[in-house]
Amino acid sequence: MKILVQKFGGTSVSTHERRARVIDKIIKAKKSGYCPVVVVSAMGRKGEPYATDTLLSLVSEDLKKQNTLAIDLLMSCGEVLSTVVMTDELMTKGIQAVPMTGGQAGIFTDDNYNNATVLNLDGKNIIEALKENKIPIIAGFQGINDSGFITTLGRGGSDVTAALLGLSLNAEKVEIYTDVDGIMTADPRIVKDAHLIKEISYNEVFQFADQGAKVIHPRAVEIAMKHNIPLVIKNTLSDCQGTIINNTGDINLDNIITGITHMGNRVQIKVSSLQKTENDSNYSNLLNILADNFISIDLINVFPEELIFTIDGKDFEKFNKIMKNLNLIYSHIDNCSKIAIIGSRMRGIPGVMAKILKCLTNQNIKVIQTADSHTTIWCLVEGSFTEKSINALHEEFNLGKNL
Ligand code: ADP
Ligand code: ASP
Ligand code: MG
Repeated sequence: MKILVQKFGGTSVSTHERRARVIDKIIKAKKSGYCPVVVVSAMGRKGEPYATDTLLSLVSEDLKKQNTLAIDLLMSCGEVLSTVVMTDELMTKGIQAVPMTGGQAGIFTDDNYNNATVLNLDGKNIIEALKENKIPIIAGFQGINDSGFITTLGRGGSDVTAALLGLSLNAEKVEIYTDVDGIMTADPRIVKDAHLIKEISYNEVFQFADQGAKVIHPRAVEIAMKHNIPLVIKNTLSDCQGTIINNTGDINLDNIITGITHMGNRVQIKVSSLQKTENDSNYSNLLNILADNFISIDLINVFPEELIFTIDGKDFEKFNKIMKNLNLIYSHIDNCSKIAIIGSRMRGIPGVMAKILKCLTNQNIKVIQTADSHTTIWCLVEGSFTEKSINALHEEFNLGKNL
């Protein structure tokens, strides 16, 4: 059986017209000799009736904080509705289909509600459907735990469902359909002349995804990379060839930068080490204490006189409480944006950071902090400069031209 996993995101299944395009893609796959296994997200984006964010807006903030089990049940409804609507429209066209929740599709997770990890995938119902020449339509972003409760896999998690199905069903490839032509040099909503990247390495896509580009979930890339599963990002609404993700990327590219992305709502924290004498263990253990409280930090710089790092704005309240309890004083800058300039070909090339800093300074953009790795350079800027910074850097590195 030649299995193809096709995942359709929220905008792809949001209207009857768009779902008709989804059906075209499924029929095309069948005609090419594939057995399609379809994964769907909740219909639409924020504001639309059945989108995940809309479902979340039905309940109080207290429930969201205190009852993650109930929230997962609520969030899972969006994808479940999608499977049934999609099945209905396929059957109307004479194509046999079977809607399945994550649990019915055999996706078993741990108990970590809101951000569960898949422990086991038993594809027997899916295989059964395929043998009967029916198309399994599976609710993305969800599974079931040992106690039979529904769990979700973290926001954007339908991509993870697709990658895991690709792995466990030994699929020939996984196609992720969305509302853009593929992975672009920058978010096309921010940079008007952002350009499609036709071929890119798993590693670089992981950087994009991990550093804020929503187009694919980083965990999905990780799974595909680890198991060498061919991954393609495509547009439901066009016939564009999309972005092929593989081990090498496009080896003929000479541009050292592949693209730019960002993560908003970062808070820069500075903790002075002068407090160390009075409060030694609390200061020295701070990073461990934050980790124990599930606060993830990055852009970490340790100096003799201070410790600097950034956290996600959504963790700030919790962070503030911890610091009060530890009796540690800190200063902070909120609403920062972490711009990530990505390119595996920049390794060993001198002057890239200098070029970035010059470009931003020429635009009167203050760089608050920087960091670099072999494939990525990060610059922390004030949130209000996000779009200006990305556009300036995109132009500086000629990313708008044909790649
Ligand atoms: P879906 O609902 O299909 O999963 P998402 O909203 O999760 O779609 O992801 C698609 C969005 O990702 C696009 O609409 C685009 O605005 C955004 N995006 C951010 N960075 C990039 C990038 N580098 N290339 C393509 N899309 C990007
Ligand atoms: N509907 C879920 C979300 O909005 C999962 C997904 O779309 O992948 O996060
Ligand atoms: Mg998504």
